[in-house]
Amino acid sequence: MAFINLQNVTYKYPLTKTPVLQNINLQINEGEFVAVVGPNGAGKSTLCYALAGFVPHFFKGEISGSIEVAGMESSKSTLDEWVLNVGLAFQNPFNQISGAKYTVFEEIAFGLENNGVPREEIRPRVEDAMKLTDISNLADRSPYSLSGGQQQRVALTSILVMQPKLLVLDEPTSQMDPIGTREVFGVVRRMAEEGMTVVMVEHKMEWIAQFADRVIALKDGQILLEGKPNEVLTSDILVENGFGISRYTSTAREAKKQGIWKKENLPVTLDEAVEGFKL
Ligand code: ADP
Repeated sequence: MAFINLQNVTYKYPLTKTPVLQNINLQINEGEFVAVVGPNGAGKSTLCYALAGFVPHFFKGEISGSIEVAGMESSKSTLDEWVLNVGLAFQNPFNQISGAKYTVFEEIAFGLENNGVPREEIRPRVEDAMKLTDISNLADRSPYSLSGGQQQRVALTSILVMQPKLLVLDEPTSQMDPIGTREVFGVVRRMAEEGMTVVMVEHKMEWIAQFADRVIALKDGQILLEGKPNEVLTSDILVENGFGISRYTSTAREAKKQGIWKKENLPVTLDEAVEGFKL
């Protein structure tokens, strides 16, 4: 049995006319790191909500098919049960901040306090989580005084500290520079190695290619393609369907048309491009 199992999932928000997810079939194994790519409005955030129980438990609307995560079945469980197993980082980190706490440290401890974790356990867990995402230096700052990228790190940390079985991240590096992005991908990869399952919406193809196990390409609420990162991210189907592709892929595509790119596979990363052009 797969850790995540979506069977024929079709979902419509209360106020939309057409379904935002259409007939989604998706199986993900425990410890897998899956990246989701797709143009705006493809349904990526909605898929995140479905994996995190917010669809249908919070957003309501009409749903058919079945969603199973970590042994829970969506129609037979409550959002309270889901949040114990699944951590979701929203697209806008500002929405994640509780507004109830004065410091980053307290903000990250908040979820543990709410879950009744003993006080003496809270401090070391928060400190370890902050070390993992390299934000120990922000411990005493107000969550509201941070840059967007720092808020994204705090949001990620406040989820990691809960040690969820499934980590769902909706563009967690959108406000980060390349160094921050690399660190987040590194941390997420490490969590997956340790058995956490990760689903991450991202546009940064070069990083996906280096770190993810599998890529799902979503368009108009349907899975257009899925497979190994390099195969999906260099596919002509993505270009034909208006997906963004890596600059190295688009350069090599042009070079291939002119007979300069000799390799069979197109590159996604700089290293792959350099290696290919050397030939
Ligand atoms: P993506 O993350 O790929 O940009 P979304 O899942 O955010 O896509 O949105 C898919 C579609 O669902 C869009 O047409 C969007 O307008 C619609 N949508 C998103 N959230 C809601 C909502 N809460 N109520 C109604 N429609 C929504």
